[in-house]
Amino acid sequence: MKLLEDRIRQDGTVLPGNVLKVDNFLNHQIDPQLMDELGAEFARRFKDAGITKILTVESSGIAPAVMAGLHMGVPVIFARKHKSLTLTDNLYTAKVYSYTKQVNNDISIDRRFLEPEEKVLIIDDFLANGQAVQGLLDIAATANIKVAGVGVVIEKRFQKGHKMVEDAGIQLEALASIASFEDGQVIFATDK
Ligand code: 5GP
Repeated sequence: MKLLEDRIRQDGTVLPGNVLKVDNFLNHQIDPQLMDELGAEFARRFKDAGITKILTVESSGIAPAVMAGLHMGVPVIFARKHKSLTLTDNLYTAKVYSYTKQVNNDISIDRRFLEPEEKVLIIDDFLANGQAVQGLLDIAATANIKVAGVGVVIEKRFQKGHKMVEDAGIQLEALASIASFEDGQVIFATDK
């Protein structure tokens, strides 16, 4: 998606460890107008997939997921990383190793919000090694619900997640696909 690639070129910073910092429009400060455009693009790419609910992980997945939900007319549920007093024991949980924080998190979703007949779309901000998506796939498998697609705002295609989702036979849509980082510059798959 050209609009997003241009914004990454303009505002993204490449950090050590193959981390792209995009905290002035996606990961900390959020650009609502851009999120709206991303949501519309996800809705366009998954319009024939029969999605009934969107699944994401707090916190950076929420903004694009909500915009996609708005454009698709379906609810959005985010997995929580911290136990809450209002979150009871009736949970689906999975372990997720965080790429940027380098710690294990238990992510949880209340069982009431995942009915067996759902067809879900998983949305996240980044796809790196695929741990966050795998955690949501594990929860979906336990809940016995179908995953019709995975949509990520930015994928780093050279890391493991892309192949993992493809090998699982799930439709994967990345709105910006990074082929590599070279001398602090972002090289998109569309540049090749
Ligand atoms: P994965 O689980 O696919 O290894 O990593 C995805 C998660 O780690 C995303 O939810 C995102 O929050 C974080 N992440 C992975 N790579 C990056 C990156 O290059 N930049 C930022 N800002 N977050 C990332």
